[in-house]
Amino acid sequence: LAQMPEEVQETLRLGDEGLIQVYMCYNNEGECESWEAFSGAHCVRFVEEDEMEEARTREDVTHLYTLPTVNEDGEEVEHAEPFRECPISRVVRFTQDYPKSEELSQALDCHPELGEEEREAIHEHAWERRQSPSSGLYIGGWFNWCQGIEYPDCPECGQTMNGTVLNIESLDSEGQIGLMFGDCGTAEICQCPTHERQMTMVWACC
Ligand SMILES: [Zn+2]
Ligand SMILES: [Zn+2]
Repeated sequence: LAQMPEEVQETLRLGDEGLIQVYMCYNNEGECESWEAFSGAHCVRFVEEDEMEEARTREDVTHLYTLPTVNEDGEEVEHAEPFRECPISRVVRFTQDYPKSEELSQALDCHPELGEEEREAIHEHAWERRQSPSSGLYIGGWFNWCQGIEYPDCPECGQTMNGTVLNIESLDSEGQIGLMFGDCGTAEICQCPTHERQMTMVWACC
């Protein structure tokens, strides 16, 4: 976080130092439902500044998630090599954009004072503005859902986790961090509006 611009620190509400780590199972894609929030196939966590050094070593990762060496049928499973650390602070952009139209409609429903014409004008403005800024790897703004809106609920308070920690699109991120979600899918890392440390990931195919 110390390497991130102030807007990012403010958006994430986790202070100006420390590290957000994202782990994801990249084995047997599709078998462990890694696309689902809190599926156990990924982990998004905040690491305090004084724990960063330790959290970055591979030993720590292995302690956190020891992968089974046999599957349900008792057969040996081979695991891919642990993924190398991909710091994204240099490639990620901060964005303030508009939601996709389905989500914008939902947001506008909270404003019954707006007439049909005003709603249409806002949609049009949003459409014009969001041609390029909101794709790829970014923090802030709104997610570029490739299927429906899939905010999970916070396990602590049940609120919709609509904080935009990170939007990762396969095509843009493949070159930069080497990740592909299904068939060119998009992954979203969401945060609870109240519990900043409650973060999780969802992803979907196009
Ligand atoms: Zn897995
Ligand atoms: Zn919460």
